[in-house]
Amino acid sequence: MERLEKLKAAIKGKKILLLGPTGSGKGNRAKDLEALGLVHIGLGAILREKVRKDPNSELSLSVIETTKKGTLLPDHLVFPIVMDYLNRNDCQQRGFVMEGFPRTKAQADLLLSEIDLDIVFLLDVPKAFLIDGILLFNRHSCIECKTTYSDFDPPKVKGICDRCGNRLIKRMSDRVERVKTRLKIYEEQIRSFLPDLEAKGIVQVLTITVDDDEAIRNKYLKKLKGEIYWVQTDRGGKARMLNYEGMRKRLYRILEEKLI
Ligand SMILES: [Zn+2]
Repeated sequence: MERLEKLKAAIKGKKILLLGPTGSGKGNRAKDLEALGLVHIGLGAILREKVRKDPNSELSLSVIETTKKGTLLPDHLVFPIVMDYLNRNDCQQRGFVMEGFPRTKAQADLLLSEIDLDIVFLLDVPKAFLIDGILLFNRHSCIECKTTYSDFDPPKVKGICDRCGNRLIKRMSDRVERVKTRLKIYEEQIRSFLPDLEAKGIVQVLTITVDDDEAIRNKYLKKLKGEIYWVQTDRGGKARMLNYEGMRKRLYRILEEKLI
């Protein structure tokens, strides 16, 4: 408990960015950071909320259109929303974790000109898991808090969110072709601005796979029907993967090394 309190004190006020493709666990990692006291800025959720509140605004119509076409929102609509959040008192004082932004080099340039980021976590998940995993492993998410579950990390009670008790629904956007397209777009986008972040020395890769010689307790590994799951890695060969708890432990350990 004391370790966690130390980490909470050390992370206060930090500005953290999470980058990773759909299905890499950005939302869940953001919640782990939120649990340490940071404000969670999820651009996707913010936009959905704005559309729900005012479906006829220029922003809402643009969100609906770009979602349909799979294109990106124009910067003049996105950036003011992001800046409003970043300038909020609670974000300034408590610090924040942002995901879903930036998506383009122009957005990254604007962000870097306004904010001194402390850490950028790059979520590294094998492509085979992102593509196959989505169809095969029964991904559901909470209608309210958006926490995701799958056969790997099932909820304690079927169909009910562990965190908030709301209903879980199947993620309908998770179709293989769409996932492949989004992955390709993600890779192009990230390549356009990752070097700028790396040049600042703030990028930290957060890998979900476990090295062969790494000693990890069984309870922190992904299992499928009780068996340890091995994923095809991007470099060839197979590796074990961390589960939800294992990833949180790895994330917190990295933060302790960096901040304490
Ligand atoms: Zn929930």
